[in-house]
Amino acid sequence: MTGTYHIWTIGCQMNEADSRHLASQLEALGFVETRPAMEADIAVLNTCVVRQQPEDKAVAKLTDLGGVKNARRPGMIIALMGCMVGKREAEDLAQQFPFVDVFMAPSQTDVLIDFILQHDAYSHLNRAQLELADYRLPAVNREKAITAFVPVTLGCSHACSYCIIPYRRGPDRSRAPEEILSEVRALAAQGIKEVNLLGQIVDRYGFDLEEGLHLAWLLKEVAKIDGLHRVRFLTSHPAYIDEELIRAVAETEKVCPYFEIPFQAGSDRILESMRRGYTQQEYRDIISNIRKWIPDASINTDVIVGYPGETEEDFMETLKLLEELQLDLVHIAKYSPRPRTLSSKMKDDVPEEEKENRRIRLDELTARINAGKSAELFGQTVEVLVEEFQENKNRWRGRTPHNKLVFFEYNGDCLGQLMNIRIDWTGPFSLIGTWVDSQETSS
Ligand code: SAH
Repeated sequence: MTGTYHIWTIGCQMNEADSRHLASQLEALGFVETRPAMEADIAVLNTCVVRQQPEDKAVAKLTDLGGVKNARRPGMIIALMGCMVGKREAEDLAQQFPFVDVFMAPSQTDVLIDFILQHDAYSHLNRAQLELADYRLPAVNREKAITAFVPVTLGCSHACSYCIIPYRRGPDRSRAPEEILSEVRALAAQGIKEVNLLGQIVDRYGFDLEEGLHLAWLLKEVAKIDGLHRVRFLTSHPAYIDEELIRAVAETEKVCPYFEIPFQAGSDRILESMRRGYTQQEYRDIISNIRKWIPDASINTDVIVGYPGETEEDFMETLKLLEELQLDLVHIAKYSPRPRTLSSKMKDDVPEEEKENRRIRLDELTARINAGKSAELFGQTVEVLVEEFQENKNRWRGRTPHNKLVFFEYNGDCLGQLMNIRIDWTGPFSLIGTWVDSQETSS
């Protein structure tokens, strides 16, 4: 063993994917995962700054680690990764956190690897060992991971007024299809049953490639890979989702009837200020088009409450749109001004109590819509991909193709299998059921 590592990750699935890649590189060099972070020889924080809250969490964690390093573990290597680190931030950060050895922008895991290879303590390591890391699942995932995230477009070029991501992840660029397909093949060969193709605007996949590829094509190619049960993709942007993509989802069996399409706000005035590039009516049309091809499609969305200038009337439009469209799940965020963004120059004029009040009202509406949707599944048999056994509750956890969470009891090992479960309890955010003989399936 070369030493130990720990990677702490918050934020989006893209960070999860980056952390997994870094873990497999470190393991190829002989490092072994350990916890907590402060006991590791190499401690990595993979950060998110999309709102102030995750940024504060990362800073607190980093400060703790720095304290431990200064007090008793001077040899520890601390690496800061993810959206806290952009091109322009590294210098300021180095002053603020002098105990950090390495700063890595999102997905730039090689910066840490190069640092380790040049470090005196690790001079016996050899770059050639890294070949082992290509698409290999790290030990922590190898036995039990059923789903994996695979980035297909990196960065973002859309420049929504409130969003820091383009500043930290750079312009959008698609990965070469051969590279993606090899990665998915390797994951499937190691037991992964579901892949989630990722992009900030995943439906822009291929626009920048010479071949002019389309996400619809990529989904079909990925679906052909042996061993995979399911394929998902996220996040779709309303301005780019098109009929070709919707049809590919409708026609490709392994691609789940599931979409993540943030609408952010119901009011056209706010949408325009956000520079989202669509109107409320255009969003509505997209949802109808999806439902025309896939009547039972499951659709998740993101909404921001309390954007600068959002009045009660604007917010009511968000509520009304949601009530009308009956989407499946809403991820609600309270507006948080972010450095360098366009909206950070506007007055953050919705008071915190009002943001919280809007968040609660939206949350209640979502719970009500979901309770109704879940109740429709009562007595039905659904196909569940089993992702985990929960020891403390003695039950299995998995998801339906529509991404509904299902719990059930089963004596035996069904990890990674598709199980037919008859639903006999429904709540707004999860379902409980009983395993039934496969002949009874209705899906
Ligand atoms: N690329 C995706 C989302 C990326 S960030 C898209 O096009 O929508 C994930 C979510 O965080 C966003 O959908 C938004 O709802 C929220 N978010 C982003 N910036 C925010 C900010 N400044 N304040 C509050 N929420 C924000």
